[in-house]
Amino acid sequence: MEEYYCTECGERHIVDQHRWRCDCGGPLELALDVDFRPDLLAGRLPTFWRYREALPKIAEGSIVTFGEGFTPLAKFDTAQGHVHLKLEFLLPSGSFKDRGTAVLVSKVKELGVREIVMDSSGNLGASMACYAAKAGVRCRVFVPASTSKGKTLQTRWYGAEVVEVQGTRDDTTQATIEAAKSSFYASHYWNPYFFQGTKTFSYEVWEQLGRRAPDTVILPVGMGTLVMGAHKGFLDLQKAGIIDNLPKIIAVQCEQFAPLYEIFSKNLNELPWVPEGKTMAEGIAIRTPSRWKEIVAAVRDTGGSVVTISDDEIVASLREWMPRGVYMEPTSSVVTAAFRKLREAGMDLGKTVVLGISGSGLKTPEVLTKLLEETK
Ligand SMILES: *Cc1c(COP(=O)(O)O)cnc(C)c1O
Ligand SMILES: [Zn+2]
Repeated sequence: MEEYYCTECGERHIVDQHRWRCDCGGPLELALDVDFRPDLLAGRLPTFWRYREALPKIAEGSIVTFGEGFTPLAKFDTAQGHVHLKLEFLLPSGSFKDRGTAVLVSKVKELGVREIVMDSSGNLGASMACYAAKAGVRCRVFVPASTSKGKTLQTRWYGAEVVEVQGTRDDTTQATIEAAKSSFYASHYWNPYFFQGTKTFSYEVWEQLGRRAPDTVILPVGMGTLVMGAHKGFLDLQKAGIIDNLPKIIAVQCEQFAPLYEIFSKNLNELPWVPEGKTMAEGIAIRTPSRWKEIVAAVRDTGGSVVTISDDEIVASLREWMPRGVYMEPTSSVVTAAFRKLREAGMDLGKTVVLGISGSGLKTPEVLTKLLEETK
């Protein structure tokens, strides 16, 4: 039986449909025996369920899957040297979130949960709605009433109910937590099963590079589910004695929302206050990453760092990379921008660098239309 433990006070809790954090308010983690078995991989299908011994034990019949995983790792030669892009936007709903969602919704199905709720006007809502549809589970997605219909188009098409909440972002979160009392809070950053899915990013990179770890991985960071997942994945490989060193993880924020950068660079012991701002990188416009201590610890553990990218750098990087065939959303281009910036600054990233391209350009037609028109 898997159990939760609190990352703040250590208290143990059974995995139950209504529990999403500790009574002390701390985020939960799973007590899990990971058994990464490279010897069993040959002959298995190229989906991330091939790593099942290293994933939470979920009854075979409860697994909700589209055959996800094994997104391409594409190599490019650039003026800053060669680099590998892992095309996470090719997952079923168009973002890396599907890794976490596949594991979380499978657990939901095993628990016999009939309905999930979450707040998201973007990729998480789309991802959860997609997998809930496959699972036959009801899905209610809470969004601020000001959210445009276009942003929730995909979520609505999957058949989820979109609940519009008057007021601020925080009011939407409160309404979701209230609804979760009689439902299931499918939060990507609170629920530890989500991270068990995102960690497969690293397993795949290791396999796709010919069973070795890269020197550096550059990833976007908001709530930290990809960064912490990637760290967990490489840590599992290291603990199994399969790799010697953890790759450096460089976590990229946008300049307007950079609490983790501030903590990291100023050695703060608490989460700084960040004003509400505007950025093109909507997917990482996060002021209060609940698991900030864990994110900072994960990055430090790898000898990596947190860096920031401006909106101008995002645009320049889109203009550089889209014509190379990489159709990504503005949020995702913070990593291509960071790669160039760090190499040009002479930072030692090692020989093998992997960038996680988190979301599809098909998600953001309005802003990309505008940028294209400005080119003329
Ligand atoms: C969610 C998301 C991110 C940020 O992930 P976090 O878990 O919040 O760090 C980055 N890019 C895209 C496309 C996303 O959907
Ligand atoms: Zn606690």
